[in-house]
Amino acid sequence: MSGRSEAPRLGGGALASATEIPVLIVGGGPVGMALGTELGYQGIDCLVIERRDGTVSHPKMNMISTRTMEFCRRWGVRTNASAFAEARRPEA
Ligand SMILES: Cc1cc2nc3c(=O)[nH]c(=O)nc-3n(C[C@H](O)[C@H](O)[C@H](O)COP(=O)(O)OP(=O)(O)OC[C@H]3O[C@@H](n4cnc5c(N)ncnc54)[C@H](O)[C@@H]3O)c2cc1C
Repeated sequence: MSGRSEAPRLGGGALASATEIPVLIVGGGPVGMALGTELGYQGIDCLVIERRDGTVSHPKMNMISTRTMEFCRRWGVRTNASAFAEARRPEA
């Protein structure tokens, strides 16, 4: 497991239940997910933690910028992003 190591024993011999992570990203919104994806793309271990269960009650965006699609292409998910958007395009 590159970049991660078990936490050392704490004083008194207790074993810490924590794991060392090079980068901890707090919040699984667009910024946290994009950062986690980019770090993974660069081979840097990270962990994204999100306090909510992932359910979104209202949309956080209704359009994707060209720059965002450039990143999707970089991460190899451009086709998936396009197909997802196309499936939700309102009827003309
Ligand atoms: C109605 C609406 C429409 C929008 N439309 C567009 C659009 O069309 N195009 C566009 O580009 N932008 C749009 N935006 C803006 C866009 O949604 C925000 O810019 C974007 O969500 C910001 O991302 P973020 O990751 O910084 O923050 P957030 O999306 O707020 O994500 C932060 C996350 O961190 C979590 N979190 C916070 N504190 C903790 C903690 N202590 N521990 C664990 N998790 C935590 C939260 O639960 C949340 O999931 C819209 C926003 C709204 C509200």
